[in-house]
Amino acid sequence: MRPIRPGDRGPAVTEIRTVLTGLDLLVPTAPDADEFDTHTERAVRAFQQSRGLSVDGRVGAETWRALDAARWRLGARTLYHAVPEPLTGEDVRSLQERLLEMGYDVGRADAIYGVRTSRAVAQFQREVGLTPDGSCGPHTMNALRRLGRKVVGGRPQWLRESDAIRQSGPALVGRTVVIDPGHGGTDPGVVVPDGSLRWTEADLVHDLASRLEGRLAASGVRVQLTRGPAPEDCLPDVGRAELANSLGADVFISLHLDGHANPEAEGVATYHYGTDNGVTSATGERLAGLVQREIVARTGLRDCRTHAKAWDLLRLTRMPAVRVEVGYLTSPADRARLVDPRFRDRVVEAIVAAVQRMYFPVERDVPTGSIDVSELRAVVAAGTVVD
Ligand SMILES: [Zn+2]
Repeated sequence: MRPIRPGDRGPAVTEIRTVLTGLDLLVPTAPDADEFDTHTERAVRAFQQSRGLSVDGRVGAETWRALDAARWRLGARTLYHAVPEPLTGEDVRSLQERLLEMGYDVGRADAIYGVRTSRAVAQFQREVGLTPDGSCGPHTMNALRRLGRKVVGGRPQWLRESDAIRQSGPALVGRTVVIDPGHGGTDPGVVVPDGSLRWTEADLVHDLASRLEGRLAASGVRVQLTRGPAPEDCLPDVGRAELANSLGADVFISLHLDGHANPEAEGVATYHYGTDNGVTSATGERLAGLVQREIVARTGLRDCRTHAKAWDLLRLTRMPAVRVEVGYLTSPADRARLVDPRFRDRVVEAIVAAVQRMYFPVERDVPTGSIDVSELRAVVAAGTVVD
């Protein structure tokens, strides 16, 4: 098959675009758009990168197969542990994410229906009184839907986090968000001289933090920053985590910019607590995914994905916590965007939307990029997001 490539048109391109839009990699446009434009190419590249395929921005046989697996929606087919060729697909990933949120140990949400996923499904089935065959058909899907995000088992330390979120309901009003602008004081973070100017990570992330503070406060959220614009000393990460704990924060967001010797390194990445052996903060991971997807969808920054890290900041905080590296200050392309206040507003809007989505029940969640943050207050006031 000849690869489908930039410039091509036709129903196959429409199909590719539909799958990519469903994966949050492409901002929705007209449903029948059939041109393989630059946005499509970028989305194809991001998709290839996320699936470990060779990244060429074209849809050949291999990428087509991966896209085909990606288009399965949870509930559209029965899932089971197939040997030797396991089932893969976006529906498997959704199932794994749902099980993780409910506290079942499926390892990482890798979209592969392996032994561990099958075991987690069997455990779920046993606990809700279904035959524990480890496959996910209509009955199991019904039980999953019925229970929503109710916790029925699994890892207690992370369940507490999710429990607190559920008990507090979906509205933002009255929550406490601690925003942590990285560095500060004697530590400027990444520094890039620019003519007579000198851009520092510490200053730019503080500006982002104050904009975010304003937007969240306008939605009725209590906001606390971990530092002012020019503190004397730089508070270590342990101190920042302790501060967030002592304030009883519901959500903790740390803001940083990245830097690299190679000016071509660019893009946004989000980190949540987790270790290599599959221990993860399910709510932290969910928040990280939402923040990452909203920022990518709303800003066009390159998607460097979410990652689990056991850093003090993420390990010691007792609430869902993420660290966002909002682009590379050392990349001329990212820097040109970051120094533009309108761009920083878009980043802030994306983070507000992500925090909002954190409190939507999973069943009512909305597509990435679709929350109009300016109307957030009205929505909250009207009670339309109340469960
Ligand atoms: Zn930093």
